[in-house]
Amino acid sequence: MILGVIADDFTGATDVASMLVRAGMQTVQVLGVPEGGLPQADAVVIALKTRTVAPADAVAQSLTALAALRTAGARQIYFKYCSTFDSTPQGNIGPVTDALMAALGAEFTIACPAFPENGRTVFRGHLFVGDVLLSDSGMRNHPLTPMTDANLVRVLQAQTTHPVGLLRHDTLDGGTPATQARMAQLRADGVKIAVADAVSNEHLLTLAEACADLPLLTAGSGVALGLPPAYARRGWFTPNANAADLDSLQGPAAVVSGSCSEATNAQVAQWLAAGRTALQIDPLALHQGRQSADTVLAQATQALAQGPVLTYATAASESVRAVQQALGVQAAGELVEHALARVAQGLVQAGVRRLVVAGGETSGAVVQALGVQQLRIGAPICPGVPWTQSTLPGNGEAVQLALKSGNFGGVDFFAQALRQAGVVL
Ligand code: ADP
Repeated sequence: MILGVIADDFTGATDVASMLVRAGMQTVQVLGVPEGGLPQADAVVIALKTRTVAPADAVAQSLTALAALRTAGARQIYFKYCSTFDSTPQGNIGPVTDALMAALGAEFTIACPAFPENGRTVFRGHLFVGDVLLSDSGMRNHPLTPMTDANLVRVLQAQTTHPVGLLRHDTLDGGTPATQARMAQLRADGVKIAVADAVSNEHLLTLAEACADLPLLTAGSGVALGLPPAYARRGWFTPNANAADLDSLQGPAAVVSGSCSEATNAQVAQWLAAGRTALQIDPLALHQGRQSADTVLAQATQALAQGPVLTYATAASESVRAVQQALGVQAAGELVEHALARVAQGLVQAGVRRLVVAGGETSGAVVQALGVQQLRIGAPICPGVPWTQSTLPGNGEAVQLALKSGNFGGVDFFAQALRQAGVVL
């Protein structure tokens, strides 16, 4: 194993794995630390769910993942977090970085959430989402990790005991030697973590080349794009043009959507506008017993004969708020996740072999219900969202899953994903 990645959430893990595969690394994603050791691959991504847990818990889980990756021989460790730097003054980006640095004896690392292809750029230490500062984006209202400051040096400094510095874009423009010289200077000045600018893929490639020999990198998924070529230049592996190949599966296909992001609302609307089959989950009806996951599943299963079917709880924010007021935020979320996971599980039992899931938490619930523990990463459908393939624990058959984090994908994402997997629409 060359690269070991510790990802702080599930769809984020798939996102970074997708970047590595795209650049020719065979990559396997595992859900948590498996009991029997890690699989063989150029890169292994361990998906944790530590973004918003208590810092001590995030640190403990990350150190367990680190130990497994080191046992498996990983040459470099990558702590992957969100491209919007989702965290609070308590963590968890700072505390986990500090703990990984201590465990690895790392003197210096970088922090770079940039992913320019998805509109996340860092300029003079400030994170932009599209054309606006992070603090002016929708992230300022995030329920768990509101981001009200776009200055990442300041944001990270509040979370770490190490001095934080800045590695600027104009240094990166000078290429790898200039970047490494600046990193050496920062280290000499006592900086332990440098927030790195990146406004283009070129910057990410330079950064990856300059940092490929560090024991630890911390970043969004963007930096991962540059690592495989950097490793190849060091003779550590040969990029494999078939790294993203998955099997060609037959059988029915379906979509399950529990994300309520603007992007997913538009994707559901597009599916409906195209006149495709769809079934809606109504959380209040579920709660009151007027609807059940099993009846929705029965309808969806029956509809499969006519083509792919979408089952969705996706709703506009006013409607979600009303449901949350009636049932509580946590309870509403869990109720819907369980129902969608049950539908997904039943559809797979009924023969579905290509399944698109929208929503990070929803994806976690579906994968758990399927009992899937390992995902082989295939070709991207859009930046950050690849097709993946797993083995079903019950019958050993293959199933392909596209797990989409809420904000990703264009309006026709569902149909685009299915067509890419060979489904005729
Ligand atoms: P995203 O990736 O967009 O954040 P998630 O699946 O992570 O999507 O989170 C969406 C959450 O909203 C889930 O907990 C889901 O169960 C919940 N949810 C989905 N539809 C509704 C709804 N109509 N009302 C209330 N909550 C909902």
